[in-house]
Amino acid sequence: MEFHSFLIKYSEIAVKGKNRFMFEDKLVARIERALKAVDGDFTVTKTSGRIYVDAKSAFDEKDVTQALQKVFGIVWICPLIKLKDEGFEVLKEKVIAYLKECYGERALTFKVLSRRTRKNYPLTSDEICPLMGEAILQAMPNLRVNVHDPDFFVNIEIRDEFINLYTILIPGPGGVPVGVGGKGMLLLSGGIDSPVAGYMIAKRGLELEAVYFHAPPYTSERAKKKVVDLAELVSRYSGPIRLHVVNFTEIQLYIYETCPHDELTIIMRRVMMRIAERIAKENGCNCLITGESIGQVASQTVQSLTVTNAAVEDLPVFRPVIGFDKQEIIEVAKRIETFETSILPYEDCCTIFVAKHPVTKPLLKVIEASETKLENIGPMVEKAVAEREILEVG
Ligand code: ATP
Ligand code: MG
Repeated sequence: MEFHSFLIKYSEIAVKGKNRFMFEDKLVARIERALKAVDGDFTVTKTSGRIYVDAKSAFDEKDVTQALQKVFGIVWICPLIKLKDEGFEVLKEKVIAYLKECYGERALTFKVLSRRTRKNYPLTSDEICPLMGEAILQAMPNLRVNVHDPDFFVNIEIRDEFINLYTILIPGPGGVPVGVGGKGMLLLSGGIDSPVAGYMIAKRGLELEAVYFHAPPYTSERAKKKVVDLAELVSRYSGPIRLHVVNFTEIQLYIYETCPHDELTIIMRRVMMRIAERIAKENGCNCLITGESIGQVASQTVQSLTVTNAAVEDLPVFRPVIGFDKQEIIEVAKRIETFETSILPYEDCCTIFVAKHPVTKPLLKVIEASETKLENIGPMVEKAVAEREILEVG
């Protein structure tokens, strides 16, 4: 039997109360968008607490599943058979034919679950389960019932137009549909951590914009292309990302000439945060997002993070990988397929001007004193912001 439909299950907890409407509508919109990239003609419908994807043409089941596995908010994807109601005897035959096709002679355990939204069906849910179970056992001696921990559930849902049958549950990515939670500005470098950070915040329902600080000719076009590619990879989960590419060269050279070299990284990071916050506010973002993790490098000690953070006026800065080991971040990067791009060896603007012995315990007062020497930085920041390149990615 071919599947023509998928039942989409989402977290019941997330949709309690007033959120339900927005959550479901965003989820439908996100599913529609994800399926645009897949060959075939699909309709997505929401009916009484259920979302269905129906194929109106031939399609590749794996392509559909893979696309749906990138839509945050989906907990389970269930390939579904929609049966016409032709009486309970015919239903039994069809269920058995389906199970034979799916599970063949394999020795497995099952449990029948039944729900009924059509109340005039001649059998109640409590009657359907044992009758169906018995018919399956008779027809398929390789199967056994296990009501506590079965290998699969035979889900039978008696609905108004159709009877739904499904036994396969494919895990979705979980999370919250993108757009439910507002929008965040990701500081996206070419490294491993920031794409993972963006992915994690998008998973909580935020749309993303991103800012990349580029320092030509010290950082190459290929380094920039790598960041665009990373934004593209993250956008497969988050939806389109507007990427702001800020030319940071003049600012960086000025800091290099003016400030103590052991403070370069921290001062640069503070300027990046200020610029990112400004672009974030201009574009309706509610937070900044970075890939910082405590203790990973000198600029990410608690003291350094404190001084970096102090440069931000009032937006919260989310650092979702703050407590992850590098290896844990790498595991996520591999799973979301950003790792291979992140490890391409192009230079990063932070590493080019980096001091041999950067301060690891900076004091805000000391750093602020050094920054007072940057008398001309105001117009440079204005210019960098005004002349930034804006790319729509994804
Ligand atoms: P990543 O792997 O994300 O590059 P990292 O371990 O290299 O992180 P840093 O270079 O100290 O760490 O940067 C910390 C964070 O600062 C990054 O995760 C990113 O959010 C931001 N960042 C660093 N460099 C840039 C840049 N050139 N453009 C935009 N954001 C940057
Ligand atoms: Mg980096």
